[in-house]
Amino acid sequence: MAEIPMRCNLQSCRVLLEKKGLVTSCSHIFCQQHAQISVKAGKCLACSTVFNNSYDYNMTDMQPTDQYKAMIITGLNPEQILDITGRSISFYTYQLSNECRLKDDLLKQSKIEMENIKANFKADLDKMHRLSNDMKKELDEKSAEVQKYKDQLMQNNRLLKKLQMELYSCKRQITTFKTTNSPRVDTPSTPSLTQLGLNTGSTHRSEDNDFQFWDDNGSSTPYLQRWQPRPIRRFND
Ligand SMILES: [Zn+2]
Ligand SMILES: [Zn+2]
Repeated sequence: MAEIPMRCNLQSCRVLLEKKGLVTSCSHIFCQQHAQISVKAGKCLACSTVFNNSYDYNMTDMQPTDQYKAMIITGLNPEQILDITGRSISFYTYQLSNECRLKDDLLKQSKIEMENIKANFKADLDKMHRLSNDMKKELDEKSAEVQKYKDQLMQNNRLLKKLQMELYSCKRQITTFKTTNSPRVDTPSTPSLTQLGLNTGSTHRSEDNDFQFWDDNGSSTPYLQRWQPRPIRRFND
């Protein structure tokens, strides 16, 4: 038979009995603290059986000495010894079955709590999955919106470039028109630098600098500055 540690049978106590315990005729046992309360109340604290006399309970030594064990039933005949032993084993069996029943109840309660925890965990997990899916959906929508703005920006850039090219072409046509249709002005001939005996290195350098393009605000734009128009000869050259 498996040995079990004896514990106070009061459910709110359940302290381990290592030295002494109050054993009752109704097969219950209590710690010293609850033994005093039980004896004072005159009844068992576990099953409320009333103590009719002092033989209904007994304070037992949980770790009896060898001398005590040698003397406690010495002098009794075998029938009495077996009767006492049988009653003691019945008490132990009852305590063992009670301990098993309590542990079984504890196990059932733990299973119920575990099932509740699992159910709550599953509910939380499902909630997090739904939240995650909602966030993913929102992220996809925002990404699509950003892509839409990117496409629109690229389209606007292409349109801006096209308009700049058209503007450049228009200004070039206007300049060409003004240059080719300006009236001829007779001016007295002035001696060239070569005629004056000065070496310029290039006879058309001064004409190159005569061409500048200006935008509506009066300042030259970068790409117009980069563009170098062909020199156009004046009528009096
Ligand atoms: Zn107790
Ligand atoms: Zn009892």
